[in-house]
Amino acid sequence: EAVLRLSGLEKVYNKGLQSEVAVLKGAELTLAPGEIVALVAPSGAGKSTLLHIAGLLDTPDAGEVEIGGVAMAGLGDRRRTIARRRDVGFVYQFHHLLPEFTALENIVLPQLAAGTSRRDAEARAHELLDQVGIAARADHRPSAMSGGEQQRVAFCRALANAPRLLLADEPTGNLDPETSDQVFRTLTDLVRGTGLAALIATHNLDLAARMDRIVRLEAGLVTAST
Ligand code: ADP
Ligand code: ADP
Repeated sequence: EAVLRLSGLEKVYNKGLQSEVAVLKGAELTLAPGEIVALVAPSGAGKSTLLHIAGLLDTPDAGEVEIGGVAMAGLGDRRRTIARRRDVGFVYQFHHLLPEFTALENIVLPQLAAGTSRRDAEARAHELLDQVGIAARADHRPSAMSGGEQQRVAFCRALANAPRLLLADEPTGNLDPETSDQVFRTLTDLVRGTGLAALIATHNLDLAARMDRIVRLEAGLVTAST
């Protein structure tokens, strides 16, 4: 069963205005469990729009989002929010960690929000930090960590509630090439250890080439690339 199925997605911004722009024009994409897929497109092509729709942060004008075989259009707002928190992890170009909290707390908080006990949440956070090689940073605030370390914490936070789907928007875009490479390897190891599906938008063609599959977003459609 597909983790994510996007069918016939359409999205127009500023409808009826002179600035109207049709960003998605029937985009289709299916992700199988365990797949890591690169989404490559020039800036402005609609990558963020596609990721936000796939991650239930935005709704399409037409088309369907299914996560784990469940059609999201049929759910009310409350159940969509629950589905987003439970099923989807996000990573951004900038880490967006809470500055006043430690690495550990940043990974614990979304778990508490999902109803996990503090004890279990802390155990899970320590385990994730260990997996990404920064167990020693648990009690550091983001400002006391390097860019690569901050982004590793952001991965741990995204995976804290064991989502089915990871969506990443230029997750290494803010890092130097060497750090970017190491952090990317950490991310793929984490993902491969869990069997979740990941869609990773990137401009970095070297990184894209190391994923299972590359798709492009062109003229509002998702096209395969070999
Ligand atoms: P990408 O992530 O590939 O750079 P985006 O999805 O951010 O692309 O944007 C695609 C196009 O839609 C761009 O032309 C952008 O200016 C426009 N756009 C994005 N969000 C909005 C919005 N909220 N209102 C109007 N136009 C938008
Ligand atoms: P809400 O409080 O609106 O229900 P959450 O705080 O639970 O949303 O956020 C769920 C996920 O969506 C988090 O990973 C968060 O980083 C991300 N998120 C929330 N709002 C936005 C937004 N406007 N743009 C991008 N990501 C967002």
